[in-house]
Amino acid sequence: MIKFLDNKLFRYLSVFLFLNSSILPVKSSSALAAWAINTNGVLELRTKSNTNLKAYFQKANQISGDRFWVDFPGELKNPRTIKGNGPIKEIRLGKPDKGKTRLVIEFKEETYLKPLTWRMVGLDQNRWRIKLFKPKYSFKKIGEGLVEKKIVNIKANQHLIHKKKNNYGYLKLPEVKRNKFEVVIDPGHGGPDPGAIGIGGIRETDVVLEISKMVKNLLSEKGVKVKLTRTNEVDLDLPPRVSIANNMDADIFVSIHANASRGKRRDINGLETFYYRGWRGRLLAKRIQKQILRVSPGSPDRGVKQGRFYVIKNTRMPAVLVEVGFLTGRLDARRLEKITHRRRLAYAIAKGILEYLDKVG
Ligand SMILES: [Zn+2]
Repeated sequence: MIKFLDNKLFRYLSVFLFLNSSILPVKSSSALAAWAINTNGVLELRTKSNTNLKAYFQKANQISGDRFWVDFPGELKNPRTIKGNGPIKEIRLGKPDKGKTRLVIEFKEETYLKPLTWRMVGLDQNRWRIKLFKPKYSFKKIGEGLVEKKIVNIKANQHLIHKKKNNYGYLKLPEVKRNKFEVVIDPGHGGPDPGAIGIGGIRETDVVLEISKMVKNLLSEKGVKVKLTRTNEVDLDLPPRVSIANNMDADIFVSIHANASRGKRRDINGLETFYYRGWRGRLLAKRIQKQILRVSPGSPDRGVKQGRFYVIKNTRMPAVLVEVGFLTGRLDARRLEKITHRRRLAYAIAKGILEYLDKVG
């Protein structure tokens, strides 16, 4: 038996897995979601995210022809054999051991393969491909399920989040003196400027507008007067955002944004909050940053930082700019797509603001 994955690839795989280290429960269902062998001889696999695959090749013997197989975590429900064509004799899906799934491709005896050149390549977190033979063999595509369908399976992660957060403590917002405070919330970008564009086309302007409106509602319920710099998709320059806050002499100004990394790197995730000057701005940033991190487990704390952004530099009251995550990051984007997570972030921002107002007044 030759374990054909070479060292180089293993390094790639282990980096990949390190960044996405989540472990499937032993008794989970099969991590194999779909597979196809295309007419060009490429085997494509779709798995649950973060799946650790093992692939093997065995030369023909008296009992069977050349065989290639891939083992997946999770147990297969229905073992089955599918008739092949061209160079492929048959494909078998089985469970070699409890809690495992094995996809076996058995080749016809006369087939000439070069398994030493084979490389299994991870296309993204849940898709894999490997070229098995050249298209000189006439071959009709075989497969089950949709390999292209990009279902991101994060159930395992979500359960973890739920376990950690099942007290819903973030839903409890502190009380402040009613009708005393005025807050300006500034949803970044808008109109022709969508801000960052992330994975799957998710747009910063949409994410931050929704969160901002939620923050407004939460604060209003606590008797805080809130002004949004924009309430829909309009083109709003930076100076008017600042003058809204300065003219009404607001107590604080909070600009809400979502990040994008250079080169749209999916491994860059995290939250950060900026202030420009003063201990009040810094305190407000710290309170908000602490709360948004609590509802974003696993996403890095990029810290409270000084930043020279126009809107926080030119507003006269304590002002912060919050980055609620990276739309280009695998972890953050998945969450920011969801209304449940946006709501949690809104609670977190509202909580940070209320704590600040209660303390500093
Ligand atoms: Zn922005």
